[in-house]
Amino acid sequence: MRLLACLAATALVALAVPAAAQEDYPDGPITLVVPFSAGGPTDTVTRLIAEPMSRELGEQIVVQNISGAGGTLAATQVANAAPDGYTILIHHIGMSTAPTLYRNLPYNPLEDFETIGLVTEVPMTIIARKDFEPETLQELIDYVKANQDTVTYANAGIGAASHLCGMLFMDAIDTQLTTVPYQGTGPALTDLLGGQVDFMCDQTTNTTGQIQAGEVKAYAVTTGERLESLPDLPTTAEAGLGEFQIGVWHGLYAPAGTPEPIIEKLTAALQTALKDENVVEQFAELGTTPVPQDQATPEGHTEKLASQIELWRPIIQEAGVYAD
Ligand code: ASP
Repeated sequence: MRLLACLAATALVALAVPAAAQEDYPDGPITLVVPFSAGGPTDTVTRLIAEPMSRELGEQIVVQNISGAGGTLAATQVANAAPDGYTILIHHIGMSTAPTLYRNLPYNPLEDFETIGLVTEVPMTIIARKDFEPETLQELIDYVKANQDTVTYANAGIGAASHLCGMLFMDAIDTQLTTVPYQGTGPALTDLLGGQVDFMCDQTTNTTGQIQAGEVKAYAVTTGERLESLPDLPTTAEAGLGEFQIGVWHGLYAPAGTPEPIIEKLTAALQTALKDENVVEQFAELGTTPVPQDQATPEGHTEKLASQIELWRPIIQEAGVYAD
């Protein structure tokens, strides 16, 4: 027993980040892991904030895409990374749905990470390939009900926001459809544009430009109010889908045990990035809202994460959708 306790103590000392290293942090590039493919909304948001964050920290932030299993693969890797501030994660609403969706999730979002701060709130849009027959949301509902066996719905894997949105949609219209999982919105949207899949629901970050250019058909925005960037697009409620609403939020995480002074520096850099003129401007164009500064904090982030886990648990359980 004594030997075991001694070994455990040695391991803890070896893991701990020395005070000098905390003071000097950062002293080398920081890897910011994106849990989906390049070219998707999470990737877009990340690359926009990474630049001003790098400037503030005085070290390069290297964006690394680790896609798969609806974002849980990347989260698992970061949960197991050294808690030294050199490997951090951006994740979205999926961090709060995965604990219910996955029967064997290898991490606990509230225990295995330190929160750094929330980043954005992003609405979603229901869109289809441009030659898809239905013209309105009501027509879409009627069409998918009548063609349940042939219609395909693209998502970014179980745990992705697009999966959640599709699950809510199918639940709301009481119809199960064939889903086609991708490693992120980037490849899913490419296939939608190419006509390989019929429809999807994804963040405005990547759908706004395609909708404005008429490259996809858009049916509704999933928020309570219309968007300035897409004023003609009805809300799901206006278009006939009752209370169906979903907004995607992003947050930054570090592995549990990352020292507080390091988290404080990362939070400060995030807050600076969210005030950056270019970020504010680009976010607005993409229908994305930076969170208020008091939400770009570990406290605001933890509160949101905990309440979202509680919010989604009964909804997912009722829908009965699970993954292993
Ligand atoms: N928007 C995607 C989702 O469905 C992920 C991504 O950012 O690529 O969660």
